[in-house]
Amino acid sequence: MSESSTAPSLQGHCLCGAVTVTARAVRGQLEACHCRMCRRWGGLAFLGVQCGSGVTFTGKEFITRYASSGWAERGFCSRCGSNLFYRFVPADNYSFPAGLFDDIGDLALEEEIFVDEQPAYYAFSQEAVRKSGAEIIAEAEQAGFTFDK
Ligand SMILES: [Zn+2]
Ligand SMILES: [Zn+2]
Repeated sequence: MSESSTAPSLQGHCLCGAVTVTARAVRGQLEACHCRMCRRWGGLAFLGVQCGSGVTFTGKEFITRYASSGWAERGFCSRCGSNLFYRFVPADNYSFPAGLFDDIGDLALEEEIFVDEQPAYYAFSQEAVRKSGAEIIAEAEQAGFTFDK
């Protein structure tokens, strides 16, 4: 994943302010992940901003990282419990919840993934590309990543 140098800098922080994040979106869009893990983690779909590896944190001592699968970790603030990121480890790609940032500019929801795991009790009204979990895993495998399923 290439780092974008032209995207505006995004500023975010957890509820208590112990952890701050400075990052740039590497894709000009939001992605919603409807998978069971993201919904258990955050209560609803995860609306992520992919930011690659060019990420700066303050308050690192308050960040707890949890290996949620063989290829991903999720971070949260150990003081207030705010979810901070999903990191796809093989690519060192951080994805942050859109709500963590003060302002995400004109980033809009353009892709929804793991739609096969989406429950019937909610839906987004935006027009977005919808992909199943199998499609997403196939795309990642095509990009050279391997998964122990
Ligand atoms: Zn906090
Ligand atoms: Zn997910």
